[in-house]
Order: sequence, then C-alpha cells, then structure tokens
Amino acid sequence: MSENRPQPAPSGGHPLDWLEIREKERVAAGLRRRLRPRPADEPGVLDLAGNDYLGLARHPRVLAAAADAVRVWGAGSTGSRLVTGSTDLHAELEAELAAHLESEAALVFSSGYLANIGAITSLAGRGDLVVSDAINHASIVDACRLSRARVAITPHCDVAALAEVLAQRTEERALVVVDAVFSVDGDLAPLAEIAAVVRRYNAVLLVDEAHGLGVVGEAGRGAVHAAGLAGADHVVQTVTLSKAMGSQGGAVVGPQRVVDHLVDTARPFIFDTGLAPVCAAAALESLRMLREEPALAGAVRARARQIADGARGLGLRATVPAGAVASVLIGAPDAAFEAARRSAEAGVRVGCFRPPSVPDGISRLRLAARADLTDADVARALDVLAEATKGL
Ligand code: PMP
Repeated sequence: MSENRPQPAPSGGHPLDWLEIREKERVAAGLRRRLRPRPADEPGVLDLAGNDYLGLARHPRVLAAAADAVRVWGAGSTGSRLVTGSTDLHAELEAELAAHLESEAALVFSSGYLANIGAITSLAGRGDLVVSDAINHASIVDACRLSRARVAITPHCDVAALAEVLAQRTEERALVVVDAVFSVDGDLAPLAEIAAVVRRYNAVLLVDEAHGLGVVGEAGRGAVHAAGLAGADHVVQTVTLSKAMGSQGGAVVGPQRVVDHLVDTARPFIFDTGLAPVCAAAALESLRMLREEPALAGAVRARARQIADGARGLGLRATVPAGAVASVLIGAPDAAFEAARRSAEAGVRVGCFRPPSVPDGISRLRLAARADLTDADVARALDVLAEATKGL
C-alpha cells in the first residue's frame, strides 16, 4: 500500500480526492476501520476486548471516589499542571504510585501516550542515542521520532543486539526504551538482562509498564519490580491509568531528579491540560484497592493463562501470557476480523489486531483477561472461540 502522502490533484480535482483512493486500497487490503459505539449496558455480553484488567473500572468504590471528585473539583482540571491543573488528588496519586512501585517519585500525565512522549523527549535529544525494541508501542515509536535523537531499532528482545548498539555508539548519552509486557502478544521483556547491559554501557533504561502495572509481579508492582530493579537509579518507568487502574491518564515513575527535570521540560506535561481530577481520583481508588487486595494481580494472570491454554487445546496458536493478554494468531486480516465479528455476534467481545498494529500476515485476536472472570466465563469464551475460528 502506498503511503499517506498527498498525491498531486488531477487538474480540476479536489485537493482531498486522494483520500478516497487510499480508502479503496484499505478496503481491498481488509484494513478499513469504522467506529462502533459501545452500548453502556449489554446484558450477557462478555467483554475480553477492553483493558480493565482488574475489573475495577465500574467497581462501586472507584465510582464513589470519582463521584466525590466531580462534586469537589468539577468535570475537568481547568488548566495545565503548572497553572491550575494540579490538585491534592494528583499529588496523592503520584505519592502512592511511587510508593507502590518502590520508586522515588512519580509525575502524572493526561495519558500513557503522553507520558511516553514526555519522558522520552525530555531524556533524549539531538546528539543522543535512543535504542528501541522492534515491536515497542506506537507511543514509543512516535516519541523516539520526536526526540530528534538517533534511533536504533533492535530485533524484538535481542539483548546481544542491544549490547552491540550501545558498545559501538559514538553518542555519550543513550536511552534504551522497552515495553515491559508487549501489548499485542503479551510477552515479557527480559528486563534483568536488559538492565544489566544498560548499566554496563552507562545508559538509562525506560520501561513502559502499561500492561505491567496491576498485573505483573507481587501485588501488581510491575515487571521492573519483579526483575529486582525497583528504585534502580538508572531506570525510569511509564505507566497508564487506563488499563488495570480502570481510569484514564498516565505517569512517569522514577528517580526524583528525573521527575524534577520533566516538570521543567516535558512538553506534554507543560502544555497539555492536566488530567481531570475525576480520573486521578478513580485511579487512586483502584490503586488503593490493589494495595489492599494484592491477589488481584495473580488472579488476572491465572485467567489469561487459562484462556491461552484453552485456545491451544482447541488447536489454535496462542501465546503464553506473562500478564493479562492472551493472543491467538489467525493470519490474514480479513479472517481475523471475521473471527472477531462472529465472536461478538455470539456475545463474546474480543480484540482484533491487524496491520499497522501488527506486521502483515500475523493478524490476531487479542483476549484480555480480567481478575473478575469466572470459570464459566472462560469456558464460554473458549466455546465461542472454537465456533468463531472454524474454517478460517
Ligand atoms: N504504552 C503501551 C504499551 C500501551 O499499550 C498503551 C495503550 N494502548 C499506551 C502506552 C498508551 O497509554 P494510554 O492509553 O494511557 O495513552
């Protein structure tokens, strides 16, 4: 498929006519997307497509905290964090996130996407090196480009290649960026080995814990903590509040001096309107629930493994989940779409990943487990999966 570059308009044509040409190409490639608004209440539907890993997004305690925050603070934050957009809720959330990850400090952004953009562009710039895993999340890819540093892409989880790039660099400063749990396949980065190489070559490591927080490790403290790297002075983490924390928003967690630097330099922190207090309150309550009930993290991991094992039992190709996500390989994008459609029709909503979210030829279904799934839910999901993938 050609790029989204504007084509010269044929004389007399509208300057946006090229959009229809691109759309036809996407339709032909099975890659056209349409928004389907989700009904608020769907009795009987089992949702394995969302990222509410701990099942807290509608928990009465979380909703009550959100409602209180709306009453006290209103619907929005009214301004950027450095002007009117910081409240006690933001400060408490930052303190408790840092405490839970056993790190010095945290800084809340209005999304995980912006936390990555802020952290990476503030920690690397022109004349520096950023090393990024080949299947890192799009927000990391964009951040690397925006940083203006030289970007080296290493093969997925290839620690030897990482060491070589770091050893041969001419730049003094290097930042290594990796997803803790890869968002589509749900596999875990070898963080202990990566961190050792990063330290050996005097670089900084940034780990995106979007799918790690609340899920991986003891009490869902994340993959960095599980690798024994909590509080390491050369490690920075980014998290999202939109998955296990059941809310919206993001944060950078790490050494105090990194957070201080971000407050002064991170453009998505300085120029973006602060996270709505209602979202901070909801995330804070979810985090408190996780700290009171640390077994939630193990529960979601067990459910994900149960789904993946079951899918393999059906003869499907499923990944081995390190966190909440079980991924079932289908192949062609239209086949994956059809499987997801059939599954939704049968009342089980699953995610469907096609290019550009995954490389060509490995389109897949993504089943996100939740801590509140029952044995009956898992059995039903597997029955529907068996039917939905028949003949594809
Ligand atoms: N990093 C990863 C690995 C993600 O999967 C996501 C969410 N899709 C993000 C960052 C962005 O987080 P948010 O949705 O909070 O912007």
